Amino acid sequence: MDPKVEQFMSQIQAKNPAQPEFHQAVHEVAESLIPFIEENPKYKHAKVLERIAEPERVLMFRVPWIDDKGEIQINRGFRIEMNSAIGPYKGGLRFHPTVNLGILKFLAFEQVFKNSLTTLPMGGGKGGSDFDPKGKSDNEVMHFCQSFMTELSRHIGPNTDVPAGDIGVGGREIGYLFGQYKRIRNEFTGVLTGKAIEWGGSLIRPEATGYGTVYFAEEMLKMKGDSLKGKTCIVSGSGNVAQFTTEKIIELGGKVVTLSDSGGFIHDPEGVNSEKLAWAMDLKNIRRGRISEYAEKFGCEYYKGERPWDIKGDAVFPSATENEINAEDAKKLIANGCKLIAEGANMPSTPDAIEVYMESKILYGPGKAANAGGVAVSGLEMTQNSMRLPWSREEVDERLQRIMKSIHATCVKYGQEEGDYIDYVKGANIGGFVKVADAMLSQGAV
Ligand code: NDP
Repeated sequence: MDPKVEQFMSQIQAKNPAQPEFHQAVHEVAESLIPFIEENPKYKHAKVLERIAEPERVLMFRVPWIDDKGEIQINRGFRIEMNSAIGPYKGGLRFHPTVNLGILKFLAFEQVFKNSLTTLPMGGGKGGSDFDPKGKSDNEVMHFCQSFMTELSRHIGPNTDVPAGDIGVGGREIGYLFGQYKRIRNEFTGVLTGKAIEWGGSLIRPEATGYGTVYFAEEMLKMKGDSLKGKTCIVSGSGNVAQFTTEKIIELGGKVVTLSDSGGFIHDPEGVNSEKLAWAMDLKNIRRGRISEYAEKFGCEYYKGERPWDIKGDAVFPSATENEINAEDAKKLIANGCKLIAEGANMPSTPDAIEVYMESKILYGPGKAANAGGVAVSGLEMTQNSMRLPWSREEVDERLQRIMKSIHATCVKYGQEEGDYIDYVKGANIGGFVKVADAMLSQGAV
């Protein structure tokens, strides 16, 4: 390891003990940025990277609520307000039992770079709770959301901090959260994104992360004179990102052969077509069932407790959660012919897996660039809310495509290596850093 990176990381680890995901995310960025900062001393003297790695504010609070049996439950709520140099804090809320401070700090840190890459004026944040919506009634989810927002509402606002969804937070939860915010503050504002279309949401927001990831993959392939048409694709997850990744791949002529959830994965060699996808969306979004039911319904294999990395495919779209691909998995994927990884999920690949991608020089689009379409359309939702004017589906989709192309171009600009290899990790990290860092320099030691 570069001794300067090692020294920087030892300070991060000492200051933020027991937060391995946060260390992992900072380390990946530090490896790209420290050599760049050495060449650009203005950032070094102003300790910009040291400041970016320290949240501007961390909120942690009690969320008491009453379940259907009348029993009091206590969860922990968080909001990490990481960086506001280029706009209000912006980033999703995650409701999942694994949520803790370190995971949300890693997500908030990544969000700063991702939001900067979108070209829109958004700072970075993230939040959530260790609340598990699985198996809870709608009533329980509502009571939890109301209690969570009762505290959060003191700290957020359309010009301060604008949360959205993430794992476990979809349209239903955003609705309950928005309703409570409006009730407490007595104002109808764009304080959350991912709202329903009837009350301030943007068309294409639910689709945006998945669509954007596929647009990014198409851009990477276009540089090689190739496209997704006819490609076999492996998708993990079966939530928001996985669903719309699959929808766009089908539309562009690719074939998706896997979907997964925390119970296991299905392998459908015939391909998930539009009808099967519509069924899976109903299963996951309305009936809130398990992906194993897809295998029963359509007569294909279900692999309990496994992930889909043994399956042969040309392109891989990890869309479930962090650290779901390790080095062994990466080697298997590449041995099976995988030529492209586009991360819909945040940090789904371990550092060792990324090393394997880099060594084999496959196309690798890291999450903070590839999945930025979701927050980009959240930014467009904020714009429409401010104007009180909704845009058409075509207009939002066209803007999303333009933004994904521009993110790709930024990655190429900063990540071009010798030959025609693009280091998208370096490109995304430096490309995302420069705008935030320059804003921080202009704003003084804040
Ligand atoms: P959802 O809650 O809609 O779906 C998550 C999916 O991943 C589900 O299929 C879930 O399975 C599975 N999953 C969650 N945790 C695990 C785990 N520990 N092991 C295996 N499978 C798991 O979330 P999203 O689709 O919104 O988010 C997926 C990823 O995309 C996350 O990394 C998120 O941070 C990232 N992302 C999301 C954005 C968005 O706009 N929503 C924007 C950018 C990134 P199960 O149903 O069993 O829980």
